[in-house]
Amino acid sequence: MKYLKLSGLEPLIITPETNFVNVGERTNVTGSRKFLRLIKEERYEEAVEVARAQVDGGAQIIDVNMDEGMLDGVFAMTTFLNLIAAEPDIARVPVMIDSSKWEIIEAGLKVTQGKSVVNSISLKEGKEKFIQQAKLIKRYGAAVIVMAFDEDGQADTYDRRIEICKRSYDILVDEVHFPAEDIIFDPNIFPVATGMDEHKLNAIDFFRATKWIRENLPYAHVSGGVSNVSFSFRGNDKVREAMHSAFLYHAIQNGMTMGIVNPEMLEVYDQIPKDLLERVEDVLLNRRGDATERLLDFAESVKGDFKNTEKIAQEWRSGSIQDRLTHALVKGIDEFIEIDVEAARLAASKPIEVIEINLMTGMNVVGDLFGSGKMFLPQVVKSARVMKKAVAYLLPFIEQDKNSVSKSSGKILMATVKGDVHDIGKNIVSVVLGCNNYEIIDLGVMVPPERIIETAIKERVDIIGLSGLITPSLDEMVYLAKEMEKLNISIPIMIGGATTSRAHTAVKIAPEYSKTVVHVNDASRAVTVAGNLMGKNVKDDYAIALRSEYDELREGYLSRSRDKNFLSLADARHNKLKLDWSTFEPSPPYFLGVKTIEIDLDILVPYIDWTPFFRTWELHGKYPAILSDDIVGKEATALFYDAKSLLEKILNEKRFKGKGVFGIFEANQVNDDDIEIRDAHGSILSSFLTLRQQSQKTKGASNLALADFIAPKASGKKDYMGAFCVSTGFGIEEWAVEFEKDLDDYNAIMVKALADRLAEAFAEYLHEKVRKEFWGYASNEILSNEALIEEEYKGIRPAPGYPACPDHLEKPTIWELLDVEQNIGVKLTESMAMWPASSVSGYYFANPESKYFGLGKIKHDQVNDYAQRRGIPPAEAEKWLAPNIAD
Ligand code: SAH
Repeated sequence: MKYLKLSGLEPLIITPETNFVNVGERTNVTGSRKFLRLIKEERYEEAVEVARAQVDGGAQIIDVNMDEGMLDGVFAMTTFLNLIAAEPDIARVPVMIDSSKWEIIEAGLKVTQGKSVVNSISLKEGKEKFIQQAKLIKRYGAAVIVMAFDEDGQADTYDRRIEICKRSYDILVDEVHFPAEDIIFDPNIFPVATGMDEHKLNAIDFFRATKWIRENLPYAHVSGGVSNVSFSFRGNDKVREAMHSAFLYHAIQNGMTMGIVNPEMLEVYDQIPKDLLERVEDVLLNRRGDATERLLDFAESVKGDFKNTEKIAQEWRSGSIQDRLTHALVKGIDEFIEIDVEAARLAASKPIEVIEINLMTGMNVVGDLFGSGKMFLPQVVKSARVMKKAVAYLLPFIEQDKNSVSKSSGKILMATVKGDVHDIGKNIVSVVLGCNNYEIIDLGVMVPPERIIETAIKERVDIIGLSGLITPSLDEMVYLAKEMEKLNISIPIMIGGATTSRAHTAVKIAPEYSKTVVHVNDASRAVTVAGNLMGKNVKDDYAIALRSEYDELREGYLSRSRDKNFLSLADARHNKLKLDWSTFEPSPPYFLGVKTIEIDLDILVPYIDWTPFFRTWELHGKYPAILSDDIVGKEATALFYDAKSLLEKILNEKRFKGKGVFGIFEANQVNDDDIEIRDAHGSILSSFLTLRQQSQKTKGASNLALADFIAPKASGKKDYMGAFCVSTGFGIEEWAVEFEKDLDDYNAIMVKALADRLAEAFAEYLHEKVRKEFWGYASNEILSNEALIEEEYKGIRPAPGYPACPDHLEKPTIWELLDVEQNIGVKLTESMAMWPASSVSGYYFANPESKYFGLGKIKHDQVNDYAQRRGIPPAEAEKWLAPNIAD
């Protein structure tokens, strides 16, 4: 008998007696925010612990995924797998190398020992590529997951599932001679009970396809990601857990062998209440016409349990004043806060005591719960709202009492640096510090360095907090540190924001500042760090420890980049991606030129990717799985509820519309790395300058530049390219200010976070319209929202400032070409940040060969070449490209 045999250090043999193999999913950057953060900050030792915890917890295989735009996926995959290989208690289980990018899969294959599983390949990009990848996997000696996906899209019926699996199987077995027992099919688990007729058979078709595969494709196995099936019941974990267990029960009976499951979201099949089970199975097995309605009704009644909770909820009103205040703060309830504060004031000898004793007692409880991971960011921000309202009520009384001076824990200046407009993270940190009794001086966004320094001195602040999202802001922070050093200022600096990192802080900022600088990217750590910086006794020890930690980090970082091999620009160009242009047939767009569009925001809701929204609030996990029953899941569910209510308000009030502009043009690659843009008459409008990877590649891999995906002028073929900018940010700032005036930071932050989501959704929506209508190169495409978020479309829309094109100086080119400011009013700051902040811009590439990649580090020969192409001094180019320069 041919069994699927996998192995780490120990074998995992799947025999007919094997019931089910569960695959651990926490070492996946798309699913675990914590894991993502550890990898981003190169805290690999801690990341290894995540893997260990999974294996300890019973995972029989671990799925490793490093697909994130801001990561060098190849480097991360290689490093991580090498590290776990050295840990016998982890390395005993096989690895599932999970990526949608072939180069990352291959990087994983190169370093895994034992026999791993690749997740996944498919016929999506045609038979040739499929065969090529399968051959390599076979040569590397791994098993493979094959998704039911072909050139026409993802299989969503029984017939399509078995047709694609059969075709894939035949190709693998007959042409590639792939061992049949090493093939695992993923026949797509899709949601049921969505209310749409075409989804009624989603589960049963999966079961039937599974059975068919096991009966007709000898030795092949079946896998899948289970939580998708209950997608339409997110928020209702009881129903979801029942659905997962019942689904697995039937899937396993039909022959499913392994799957990615969240063990916390499973109910024991036998313990599912009979009435619920019956309704769930009616849906899964499509046993009756009204199955969905009946399950929905039932789900409502399960929710009805909350009524009871509400009654209990009111009982806290009978506690002591202190208990009521503490409860209100911990739970973030502001309904009775003024009554309770007034009662406390009457009982106190001085009004200030209500803050210093009663409210601080409550906030200390909040702080302890937060510090020990029992409370999460959204809840803390809600607590802060209650605190603010309480303080606002007390202020007039305190002012009457001349003798009272409030003691704060310390004064902290917060600012988003010059040229940058992003402030969600900064505002969250401010709120959290504020409710730990720090006095916050928030200078807002785009703050020039002189103003930061002047205010810091005048106000005698204890700490300066700097924030920034785009790469030029990193340079601003370095500049500010230098200035402070020159002026002999000794105030500690805290660095935070999306592009900042411990590495950058250690390598670029710390050497410029002889006093303390510390990187803090989590609001949850900000309080501890600020406490350490202020601490009377430990202060110096802390500063010394920090400095040596950063020195060490810098040394390691520099020696790593010294060890990397780079090609000269000429050699890198020589090794560019050479697509076959002789057979290339460009897709002529239906529309050429520039077009402006305005839309109602309602249209965008289905396109929202919620996962990054939860990340903004430091809740990790992939939506919708994040809305689970565990402690984080409950917090996420409450946050999601608040977000949905505010979103509804945004949609109802219709204060503003989404504005977008895009253009599609004739284009050809010229002078190696540039793309010439022409109008419909062939006159040159502009050129996009792309940058090329210079790190030494393994054999066969190319040094990529985006220009490689556009037909060279020399080929004689006319090609095309597009660009766009969209915004949903007009009026948001004003709206946030209204909330702030109402002392409601929670919703002030929320409205911005939602506007960011809508802007990204708009980019997704417009890209789809361009692919299907305006350009029309993918007019037959049918992709679910999840597939869109996974970037499963043909062609790409890289964004300037992101890994493939980190060059922000490309933005003015887009702005001129599309007349962005005139057409929709989005402006660029001096650091090329887009204003309003909730805006997205980028390019469109239609070539099916085009893919996202990371530029990585480049050398000075390219920096100089680029300066010349752009007509700017080399020093100027160096400034803009700084984070990417290796030498
Ligand atoms: N769904 C996400 C998408 C935003 S970030 C959200 O709602 O937040 C991902 C976007 O960045 C992609 O859609 C693409 O436009 C861009 N991108 C991804 N990888 C990139 C790369 N390597 N280079 C340039 N742009 C990239």
